[in-house]
Amino acid sequence: GSTIGMLGDGQLGRMTALAAARLGYKTHVYAPGSEGSPCAQVSAAVTSAGWDDLDALETFARSVDVVTLEWENVPVAVVEHLGRFTPVHPGGKVLSVAQDRVEEKSFVNALGIGTAPWRAARSAEEVARVVAEIGPRCILKSTRLGYDGKGQARIEPGTDPADAWAAIGSDAGIVEGFVSFTCEVSVIVARGLDGTMAAYPAVENRHKDGILDKTLAPARMSAETAAEAERVARRIAEALDLVGVLAVEMFVTPDGGVLVNEMAPRPHNSGHWTMDACHSCQFEQLVRAVCGLPLGSVERVADAEMENLIGADADRWPELMAEPGARLHLYGKAEARPGRKMGHVTRLLPRT
Ligand code: ATP
Ligand code: MG
Ligand code: MG
Repeated sequence: GSTIGMLGDGQLGRMTALAAARLGYKTHVYAPGSEGSPCAQVSAAVTSAGWDDLDALETFARSVDVVTLEWENVPVAVVEHLGRFTPVHPGGKVLSVAQDRVEEKSFVNALGIGTAPWRAARSAEEVARVVAEIGPRCILKSTRLGYDGKGQARIEPGTDPADAWAAIGSDAGIVEGFVSFTCEVSVIVARGLDGTMAAYPAVENRHKDGILDKTLAPARMSAETAAEAERVARRIAEALDLVGVLAVEMFVTPDGGVLVNEMAPRPHNSGHWTMDACHSCQFEQLVRAVCGLPLGSVERVADAEMENLIGADADRWPELMAEPGARLHLYGKAEARPGRKMGHVTRLLPRT
């Protein structure tokens, strides 16, 4: 059989490897410190080496048939190096857009798709200038490497821009106007080697302490807004010439329009419900897309609610295990640190 190379070793890689195994593929994971990781536990081969180890990268690339990733912050130079020996999907161009919030928002706006008003800022003084222009309520974010709301600072009337600047701990920031959204939604779209696309319905995402808490599938909103969210996600995937899966996070505004918040060119936490409620889940779609197989059906057989198990929530597993119909997924992480995603549970509902 063929082997998929996976960059990154977390739960997204693990669930991709499980989907790959079902289709007869092996997975070889590459990540620094990946021994015993959620993905390594279910992979046929593991390379635990640095992103700067060119020899290890070459050996890895030569041992697999295609490379994909579960973490969009893999250095672009790494995927370019791997690409000399084997196909890599998604590729460096997609990553360079998705790794930097300024690049990402510029790309989206150039397609005529709306975002919050934003400006790049490289000092506390620049933050103050931008807030005067687009504030008073803003969010300052580091342009790179943030997740789960880390590397962000809220700016309200009275906030000292210097405090916000110090809080993000980065020398490159983006100031975004605060969006008074009615809800947050995401759309996951798969795109194959031949450009075929398949999009799951828009889902609603509720956050707690900056971390995704629940996903409701499909989103409870008008058919027009749902269709617009799907159109936006497809347009972005096409413009990126993406091969793989792309998650686009959006804000729904009071007029029923959508604004793009950010995107991730990989399976996404808000797509975990597809494992239990759809004919083909997001992880299987990634395998199909990067291996040049036809995409699967995104049709859902049920509506669903997905709940993340964060930190000590994982201790609830005996109760969840006993709950009929609660589909429990645990990621094999030994240590339940606060804020750490340990697993999730999906409950199915009658299809609307
Ligand atoms: P993720 O874990 O989804 O990758 P992240 O750390 O990359 O998160 P964002 O998604 O940009 O961060 O922001 C986290 C949350 O903060 C959003 O889901 C939203 O609730 C809120 N938020 C971010 N930007 C804005 C904005 N411009 N206006 C209002 N709320 C915002
Ligand atoms: Mg993010
Ligand atoms: Mg986000």
